[in-house]
Amino acid sequence: MKNFLRVLRYSWPYRRRLALSVVCALLAAALWGLNFTAIYPVLKVLGNQQPLQEWVDERITETQKLIDAWQTQAEKMARQAKRLSEEPPSHRRDEQQRELTGALARLDSKLQAARTELYRYQLARTYIYRFLPTDCFRTLACLTGLVVLGVAIKGIFEFGQEALVGGVVNRSLFDLRNRLFRNVIRLDVESFGEPGTPELMARFTSDMDQLGGGLKTLYGKLVAEPLRALSCVLIACWVSWRLTLLFLVVVPVALFILTKVGRTMKRATRRLLERTTNIYKILQETFQGIRVVKAFTREPYERCRFRGATRDYYHKAMQVVRLDALSGPVVELLGMVAVAGALLVGAYVVLERRTHLLGVRIALQPLEPESLLQLYVLLAAIADPVRKLSTVYTRIQAGCAAADRVFAFADRRPRVTGNSGGPRLPRHRSTIEFRNVCFSYEPGRPVLANIDLTIHFGETVALVGKNGCGKTTLASLLPRFYDPDHGSVLIDGFDLRRVNLRSLRRQVGLVTQETVLFDDTVYNNIAYGRRHARAEDVERAARRAFAHDFIIRLPAGYRTRVGEAGAKLSGGQKQRLALARAVLRDPSILILDEFTSQYDAESEALIHRALKEFARGRTVLLITHRLHTLEMADRIVVLDGGRIAAVGTHAELLASCPAYQRLHEAQFQRLSA
Ligand code: ADP
Repeated sequence: MKNFLRVLRYSWPYRRRLALSVVCALLAAALWGLNFTAIYPVLKVLGNQQPLQEWVDERITETQKLIDAWQTQAEKMARQAKRLSEEPPSHRRDEQQRELTGALARLDSKLQAARTELYRYQLARTYIYRFLPTDCFRTLACLTGLVVLGVAIKGIFEFGQEALVGGVVNRSLFDLRNRLFRNVIRLDVESFGEPGTPELMARFTSDMDQLGGGLKTLYGKLVAEPLRALSCVLIACWVSWRLTLLFLVVVPVALFILTKVGRTMKRATRRLLERTTNIYKILQETFQGIRVVKAFTREPYERCRFRGATRDYYHKAMQVVRLDALSGPVVELLGMVAVAGALLVGAYVVLERRTHLLGVRIALQPLEPESLLQLYVLLAAIADPVRKLSTVYTRIQAGCAAADRVFAFADRRPRVTGNSGGPRLPRHRSTIEFRNVCFSYEPGRPVLANIDLTIHFGETVALVGKNGCGKTTLASLLPRFYDPDHGSVLIDGFDLRRVNLRSLRRQVGLVTQETVLFDDTVYNNIAYGRRHARAEDVERAARRAFAHDFIIRLPAGYRTRVGEAGAKLSGGQKQRLALARAVLRDPSILILDEFTSQYDAESEALIHRALKEFARGRTVLLITHRLHTLEMADRIVVLDGGRIAAVGTHAELLASCPAYQRLHEAQFQRLSA
C-alpha cells in the first residue's frame, strides 16, 4: 500500500483537475439521487388520478386539521396536568401525573412531525403551483421531461469527471514512467544483467497498466460511487431514517468480505504480473534468436514453450477474473438482503398501520405506501454504486501489487555511483594501473585474482588467453562497468572509484565484437557519442575507419537507416561504423574487444593501418586472438585462469611462456586448417 500511496505524489501537480473532477462527481451524484425522488409525485398522480396541486392542498388541510385536533388535545392534557398538580400529593396522583407527562411528550413529538410535514407540503405547494400544469397527464409529462433533463445533465458531469480523472492518471503515469526510466538507465551494468530485459520491460508496460487501473479506480470510482450512494442514503433518510439505518447494518459485513477478497486479489495480481514477464522473456528470446530457432528447426519447441507460458498466464488471469467477478454479486446479494429486510419491516408498518415493531419505534406516524415504495427505489438504487464500489478494493490491491514491482526498480540505487562532485580526469595523458585487482561476479568464484599491471600512456597492450579467462572482465573495469572487490584501478594516479564517472567515460572508447547499432541513420549512429558533431567531422571519422566508401554506396548515403540493431548491414560494415563512432568520440583510452574478428583478410590490413594511426597518442587495450592484430601491440599480457601468466613482446613470450606457446599453436593450426 505504501508504494501505491507514493504514486499519488505524482498526481499532486494535477490537483486542480482532480478537485474539479470531485466537483463534477458531486453534482452528478446529487442529480442521480434527485432523479429518484420523482417516483413519489409520479405515484401520487397515477394512484390518486388527481393533479398534484389538489392533492397537496388536501394534505395541507388534513395535516392542519390533525395538528388542530392534537393541539386541542394537548391543551386539554396540560389543563388536566395543572389540575392534578393542585391536588394533595398521593400515590395515585403521582401515577396519573407520570402517565400524563408521557402521553404529552408523545403527542408533542407527533405534533412536531406533523408540523414539519405541513411545512414540507407548504414548501412543495409554492413550487408545484408555480411550475407544474394543473392536469394529470401534463404533470406526468412534465415530471418525465425533468427526469430526462436531469439524466442528460448528470451525463455531462459524469463525462467531465471521467475525462479529468483519465487525464490525471495518464499524466501521472507519464511522469512515473520517465522517472523510472531515468533511474533504471542510471543503474550499473550489473543491475541490468540480473533481472533481464523482459523483466525490466514488463515494469514499464503491464505493471504500469495495472497501476493506472488502480489509480483510475481510486480517483474515479472511489470518489464518484460513494457520493452517489450517499446522495441516495441522504434522501432515503429524509423519507425514513430509521428504516434506512436498518438497511445500513450490512455495511460492515460487506466491508469485511471485501477486505478478504482484496487481499487475495493482491496476491493473484502479483502472480499474474510475474507470468506476463515470462511471456515477454520467451518473445524476446525467440524473436531475437529467430535465425537460430529456424536453423535448428526448433519452432515446435518454442511453440510449446510459449503455449506453456500463456497457459500459465491464462490460469492466473482467470483467478483474477474470478475474484473480480465475485465481489460484485456478493455485495449485491448482501445489499438486496438488506433492502428486503428494510422493505419487510416497512411493509409491516404500512399494512398494519403501526409505528412500532418489537417495541422499537420505526416511524412517527404510519407510513404511506408511496413513501415506502420511494424508499425501496432509493435503497435499491444504492445497489448500483455499491456494486461498482465492490471492485474498488480489489482493483486498488492489484494497483498496489504493480506499484511494489515498479518501485522496486525506481528505488534501486546504482552500486557504481556517478561521483558528480569527484575530481575530473585530465584529458589525453592516461596511464592505467591495475593494483592487486581481484574481482568475482558471484561470491566464491573469483574471475580475476591479484592483477598487477601498468599500461603507460601511448602504449598498446594486448590481452590474450583462453576463452573465459577474464579478458573482457578486466577491460570492463576501466569504464567502471564494475568495481573490483579488492585492490583498485587507477588512471593517472586517480582511483576510479572516486573520480567523476562522466569524465572517466568520456575518455574511454569501447569497440566490441558485438557491435551495438541503433535503429537510426548511419550518420546518427556515428555521431552517437557526440551529438553536435559537424558533418565534416563525422565524415572524417568514417574515412579513418574505412567506412566512408561503403556508406556512400548505401541507398541514402549517410542518411540510410540501418534497421533494428543494424540488421541491414553486414558484420564487417557494422564494426566499421562502431569504429567510426569511437574515432569521432576521440577517447584517450581505447578498448578493442575481439574487434577485428569479423573482417576479411583484405579489409583487415586496412583496418590495421587505421588502428595504428588512431592508436597514436592514445592508450589502447586490445583483446584478440589474431596474430596479425597482435603485431600492433607493444606488449602482450597473457591471462590464465584470471591471473597474469606472463607479460612481454610476441618474440619474448614465444620463447619463454608455455601458455602463450599453446595459444600460438592453436591459432596457427586454425589458420593453416
Ligand atoms: P573472456 O573475455 O576472457 O572470454 P570473460 O571476462 O568474459 O572472459 O569471463 C570470465 C568469466 O566470468 C567466465 O567464466 C564467465 O562465465 C564469467 N562471467 C562473465 N560475465 C559474467 C556475468 N555477467 N555474470 C557472471 N559471470 C560472468
